[in-house]
Amino acid sequence: MPVELYAVTCGHLTIPSAFLLAKTKGWITVPVPAYVIVHSRGKVLFDSGMHLKAQTDAAGYLGPEGIKANIPIFSPGEEVAARLAALSIAPGEITHLINSHLHYDHAGGNAQIPNAEVVLQRAEWDHAMAQPDHDVAYHKGDFDTGQQVHKIAGEHDLFDDGTVVCLPTHGHTPGHQSLRVRTAGGEFILCGDACYLKQSLDNLHLPGIVADKEAALAVFHRFRAMQERGARIMYGHDPEFWRTIPQAPTRLG
Ligand SMILES: [Zn+2]
Repeated sequence: MPVELYAVTCGHLTIPSAFLLAKTKGWITVPVPAYVIVHSRGKVLFDSGMHLKAQTDAAGYLGPEGIKANIPIFSPGEEVAARLAALSIAPGEITHLINSHLHYDHAGGNAQIPNAEVVLQRAEWDHAMAQPDHDVAYHKGDFDTGQQVHKIAGEHDLFDDGTVVCLPTHGHTPGHQSLRVRTAGGEFILCGDACYLKQSLDNLHLPGIVADKEAALAVFHRFRAMQERGARIMYGHDPEFWRTIPQAPTRLG
C-alpha cells in the first residue's frame, strides 16, 4: 500500500511578526498545521496543534504573559481530533504521534490522541521537562499526558523502509525535529518550526526567537539542499504558502 500524506489545519495564531522574522514589525496571523500519514503498518500524526483549552479560555491556558503575544483563533471543530474525522480516522486509531517539538501549538493536542506512541527527540523531552511550570511556550499539561514516549536521539526511520523518517533539526529548540515523508507523489519535508515561511528559506532570514542561531541557519542550508534534490519543503507557519495546500481528505502526496 502506498504511503498517503494529508494536511490539516488546527486553527490559527496571531503573533508578532518578529517572532518569525527577526527585526520585522507588526503582527501576523499564521496557520497551525498538522499532518496525517497513513502507512500499511500504522497511522501517524505529525504534531497535534493546540489544546482544547485554547478554544474556551485562551488567557487562562496561555497565562498573562503568553496571551500578550499569542492570540489563538481556534474554534470548536478545528482541534486535531475533529480534523481526523475528515479522514474517517478515530483519534484512538493513531498509532504514532511524532512531535516536532513540545511548544504548545505543536503538542497541545497530544491528550486527544490517547493510544499513540509519542515519538520525539530525547533532547526535546529533557529540555521541556526542565522548564518552569509557568513557561510561556512549554506546558507540561500538554505533553506529559500518559502515553508511551519513545525518546529517540538523531535520525529515526519509523517503519524501517525510508518512508517516514525523523530528521533532527535543532535550532528553534534544543531537540527540534522535522519529518521526511516519501510518497508516490514525491518527497515532503515537514519542517515544523525549523523553517516558518518560504521567505525564511529564500532569504535565510532567521526568526527573532531561536535557541541556537548557528544551528538554525545550518538547518536552512540542509533544507535548501533537499529542495534542490526535488523535495517539497512544507513551511511551518506560512499563511500564503498554506493557502495553496490541499486539506484532508484531499491527499497531499
Ligand atoms: Zn515552536
